[in-house]
Amino acid sequence: MATIIDGRVVSASIRESLSREVQTLVSQGLRPPHLVAILVGNDGGSQTYVGAKEKACHEVGFLGTVIRYPDTVTEEELLEKVNEINHNDQIDGLIVQLPLPKHINENRVTLAIAPEKDVDGFHDVNMGRLTKGADGIKPATPYGITLMLKHYGIPTEGKHVVVIGRSNIVGRPMSILLSNPGETGNATVTVCHSRTPNLSWFTQHADIIVAALGKPGFLTGDMVKEGCVVIDVGTTRVDDPTKKAGWRLCGDVDFASVEPKASAITPVPGGVGPMTIAGLLVNTLKARKASIEAHTA
Ligand code: NAP
Repeated sequence: MATIIDGRVVSASIRESLSREVQTLVSQGLRPPHLVAILVGNDGGSQTYVGAKEKACHEVGFLGTVIRYPDTVTEEELLEKVNEINHNDQIDGLIVQLPLPKHINENRVTLAIAPEKDVDGFHDVNMGRLTKGADGIKPATPYGITLMLKHYGIPTEGKHVVVIGRSNIVGRPMSILLSNPGETGNATVTVCHSRTPNLSWFTQHADIIVAALGKPGFLTGDMVKEGCVVIDVGTTRVDDPTKKAGWRLCGDVDFASVEPKASAITPVPGGVGPMTIAGLLVNTLKARKASIEAHTA
């Protein structure tokens, strides 16, 4: 029987400690952390994610603001808003919910965010710091996963980790975090992607697998070894007429066949998703503390 890694429980415990830190700031007469999210258009998934982030902010005592634009907004208008927020010392963190409409260059917008306010950790400066193992803001989802592994006491040192997916927001930074020196690092990491032949050979030799490819049920029981730890990042909406919404979230792992062989596994939903928000909140507090330090130095 595998341990079911409960991201909601870990996230709740992190949020509790963040609440206490906010109370300490406020008791010192300081403003709580303030996170701003820019949301463009009416995409259902994006609205849900931004809504959940806003709610989580309020729960821990952060200020949370959502700035909404129609999908006709121009790139220049967005860049202007990002620039304005960069210079607003009442705001500590800024996220621009992706995807953006096709006429907007996502990379240009992401790179316009001041690195110290980039609490998603997508900016080249933060990615560069991550790669060098220097202090910086870590990408929220991979960072959240390391917090989850730490909470469950799952060691990574000396382990063989296979990360499936090499995107800039999940797979690539995950592989770097786990191979960097440190408490939730020191692993030997193999990164697999769509050009990897014989992918199941790698997963069969993995102590820990992080599946982040966006293909529902991709990782099956025959692809894993007994006792492995499985982290499922995938969140694909699949049609399900039995659900009120008409769809359900599906992970990249075939839970039914993998769980009996795993020693620990994350479910979808309720695994990595809540940890992404926890990572984002921790990053926002870190940005707030850095701003306090910069203003008192
Ligand atoms: P992405 O940008 O589409 O990247 C997918 C990666 O998977 C690519 O590197 C791709 O390889 C690889 N891949 C695709 N098909 C493959 C196959 N058959 N075999 C091996 N590798 C394959 O996706 P992403 O943004 O990283 O997101 C991945 C999943 O995580 C999605 O379901 C997304 O919704 C989810 N997600 C969840 C959270 C959360 O909080 N729970 C956060 C972020 C993302 P190539 O590079 O060769 O194309």
